[in-house]
Amino acid sequence: MTRSRVFAAAALVAAVLALAAAPRRTPRREPADLAFVRGAVYTVDGARSWAETVVVSKGRIVFVGTDAASKPWIGMRTRIVDLAGKMLLPGFHDSHAHPIDGGIDSLEVDLHGLATPEAVVARIRAYAAAHPEAAWVRGSGWELPTFPNANPTKELLDAAVPDRPAFLYAMDGHSAWANSKAFAIAGVTKDTPDPPHGRIERDPKTGDPSGALREDATGLVSRHLPKRTPRDYSNGLAAALKIANAFGLTSLQEANASEQDLTAYAAADARGTLTARIAASLHCDTDQGVAAVPGLVALRQRYRGGRRFHAGGVKIFADGVLETKTAAVLEPYLGTNGDRGKTNLEPAAFRELAKALDKEGFQIHVHAIGDRAIRDTLDALEAAREANGPRDARHHVAHLELIDPADIPRFRRLGVVANFQPFWAGGDLYLTELTEPELGPERSRWLYPIASVRDSGAVIAFGSDWDVSSLNPLDGIEVAVTHREPDKGDGPPWLPQERIALPDAIEAYTIRGAYLDFTEKETGSIEVGKAADLVVLDRNLFEIPASKIHEVKVLLTFLEGREVYAGK
Ligand SMILES: [Zn+2]
Repeated sequence: MTRSRVFAAAALVAAVLALAAAPRRTPRREPADLAFVRGAVYTVDGARSWAETVVVSKGRIVFVGTDAASKPWIGMRTRIVDLAGKMLLPGFHDSHAHPIDGGIDSLEVDLHGLATPEAVVARIRAYAAAHPEAAWVRGSGWELPTFPNANPTKELLDAAVPDRPAFLYAMDGHSAWANSKAFAIAGVTKDTPDPPHGRIERDPKTGDPSGALREDATGLVSRHLPKRTPRDYSNGLAAALKIANAFGLTSLQEANASEQDLTAYAAADARGTLTARIAASLHCDTDQGVAAVPGLVALRQRYRGGRRFHAGGVKIFADGVLETKTAAVLEPYLGTNGDRGKTNLEPAAFRELAKALDKEGFQIHVHAIGDRAIRDTLDALEAAREANGPRDARHHVAHLELIDPADIPRFRRLGVVANFQPFWAGGDLYLTELTEPELGPERSRWLYPIASVRDSGAVIAFGSDWDVSSLNPLDGIEVAVTHREPDKGDGPPWLPQERIALPDAIEAYTIRGAYLDFTEKETGSIEVGKAADLVVLDRNLFEIPASKIHEVKVLLTFLEGREVYAGK
């Protein structure tokens, strides 16, 4: 639907409704600013009710019901959006994303989803040609399986960028790829030793760096990248907000905020350009343990009092990732000599840190992937609750890739929100080729147990981890329902017993996200009195096959009744 068609339809409907309204019988009201009529409105209220019409005045929802009953609200200056059966939902909430990183990356070379080395090189070459001013060609998103042994060569990158240094992170951020100019600037040669927590991939004959760097070895080159400026951060945020609004998102949890991020968010909020609500978790240096807490308290104090932005959380990284066996697991990875991965915090230190943060009133947000890291996390949150007494803390654990079944009931018991990234549960190559073989079938049964956690009565919320994965909530909703990769058509679902129903997936991307942000009285559902954070979809999600959900387009997005996105 084009904008002009929306307006043409709106004018027509306004005329019809004005004629139909009988002034004698209608109570006098100030006409509303905005009305959505003839829609499939899924309100996500407690009763999961449907409506036809939503009326908005001064940014708030003032009426939800039928077209006929809405007439007293409609006046000549009411903008009417004729939905003609299309779907209206509450604006989406992403409960774990990295908006500014993602926005900055979107302005650099983006290699996500490119399946051949030729396609990767072509994309890099095109970017370099279009950005002659860039001192470095930088970017991210190359997929590990695109290159033999996940090992792209510097010669390949030299061919694409011969004149300047180039440095590109892999899709998971744990590997990077540099060209000869970048290695020369960084002084990385065959004589450079591997750092303690990293590896320089090398030519087996000469020992020269061959192109790829793993984990901490990425820092040998990345520390020579030009420093990002405040302008880069604000440009990145502006780009991210545009992308988010185009996907119908009106709220995001910033999962790991640096002070530069906070400055950019606060400045945008003050300027009135924050077109989505942002709840930030402050980055915590876990090596410092409890010594980090006073600094975090001071930081929170400095960024308190925003209109659409608040920073009340703290992010703790408990472990690494399964694909590279850095996630902390209870039993050893198969085919290793007893390797159980690694936690970033000893359990006792984790408990002390959780107690101290909880005591200061922070909402604790933990990155935990392996079943051992998840158990340590629940132990730490339980210790905090015992030490400080229960409160409405809404601590949450993100990622949750492998949960020991014994720990599942603890989420509900401790009031801990399970913050899943459902897009990862589609049975892709990362799961079938890298993860399942290192766990074996019995433990793999407990990968992404979203349905089991929901059935236990815990609150589940969804996020994307953008730009690790697609920011589009409809991609995540589809995979939560199908357990298939979008675009792969129909076929057997991966781990079918952990799929969930569409209403539950929508809730996890709306009202449960609002709960996680402590804004459920303000947003997250379509109810009278709430802010008009709304998204119009071109199709009713309940009337199409689940495997088509990712094809649904966002037509319009509103934040507090103001249009922040209109599709073409
Ligand atoms: Zn993340």
